[in-house]
Amino acid sequence: MEKDDIINLIQETASKEGINTYLIGGYVRDEILGIDNKDIDITVEGDTKKIAESLGERLGVKIKRTSQFGTFILFTPGFRIDIATARRELYPGQGKLPLVEPGSILEDLSRRDFTINSMAIPIGTTTIIDPFRGLEDIKKRLIRVLHGKSFIEDPTRIFRALRFAERLGFKMEQITGSLMDEAVEQRTLLTISPARIRNELSLCFKEIKKWNILERTAQLGILKQLGMVYPGMGFLQELDEFAAGLGIEKEPLYFMALTEGGRNRKILTGRERRYLNAAETLLAKIVPLKESEGRGETYTVLRGFPPHPLAYVAVKEDLRDKISVYLKEIEPLRLEITGEDIKSLGVGEGKLIGEILLRVKREKLDGRLSTKEEELDYARSIITRNRLRKN
Ligand code: ATP
Repeated sequence: MEKDDIINLIQETASKEGINTYLIGGYVRDEILGIDNKDIDITVEGDTKKIAESLGERLGVKIKRTSQFGTFILFTPGFRIDIATARRELYPGQGKLPLVEPGSILEDLSRRDFTINSMAIPIGTTTIIDPFRGLEDIKKRLIRVLHGKSFIEDPTRIFRALRFAERLGFKMEQITGSLMDEAVEQRTLLTISPARIRNELSLCFKEIKKWNILERTAQLGILKQLGMVYPGMGFLQELDEFAAGLGIEKEPLYFMALTEGGRNRKILTGRERRYLNAAETLLAKIVPLKESEGRGETYTVLRGFPPHPLAYVAVKEDLRDKISVYLKEIEPLRLEITGEDIKSLGVGEGKLIGEILLRVKREKLDGRLSTKEEELDYARSIITRNRLRKN
């Protein structure tokens, strides 16, 4: 279904249910800018459930209630429709989430972040409700907050402002820029939970101009304040390229780069923390790694490390070739023999089996074994030597 058909259907549903319904926020902003947006934001003055259920039925899709205040999401092929109740918000204190109660469309627009995001279109009309002159700011290409306390009330708006400015090529309106600097100086971001900071950084990583946004964040001293480090755009781009070549997920690498050497690991997921610890373990072995010669020796140093720590160290220590060969050729190489074969040569359960297999694999990696028979012979020779040594 095309976007216009969906909007028409929303309009029909709203008028049948007799509920004031508005297109709002980012959707309106992008419509005015002529940017394609697959997220349709709807706000209603009244019962969201009624509208969501009725619309879900007409579209033939399931509705999903979110944890947020009376909000529903519908997914159609190609679009995501968010239906929220118009609400007013009270800020209980810095960094805390607001208290929410139903309100009018004007109250709903007044709680928003920037003028360009605070416009609504009553569905089925061409009128723009624009109490904060968002349209004018779109023309002037400016990011402007609605009031002087905006960044203090919700410091995540600092990240949002940087994101929109880079994405749209807009400038920070002068007073907004000063308010943002003040909010950073007052260390308001320290009142935000690590999970919310992570979410903002994650949203930044989804942007085309992510590195520009991150650089601005670093220039403003935000990363440092949050106990993170800025490794530089060049390093991040190199990580990006290397990860693309390996076909591995990029985001864990970005987060590793922002936290290695810093004092804030709370923003990492458990998996990323494990990757970072592994990367640090590997960095401590960097001399034997750099000096390792031949595939067998490289395998001995690198085996057991997952691809993410390996990729991180590869870029950081300029070992891309060695680590690529490890990941693409050395690690995937499998022996013809297994632990069962070693057992059938008379070795009992235990560590020794793994050690023998490792030595066989090293020998094979160095090109001295190819067939199963050769592998078995080599395993046999290790076992014999072992026994002789023991006797
Ligand atoms: P994007 O294209 O990145 O999704 P968006 O403007 O749609 O941009 P959302 O995060 O989906 O952004 O939020 C939808 C709308 O909700 C925004 O346009 C804005 O009006 C409002 N909003 C979101 N986050 C905040 C916030 N932290 N403070 C105030 N208003 C917000």
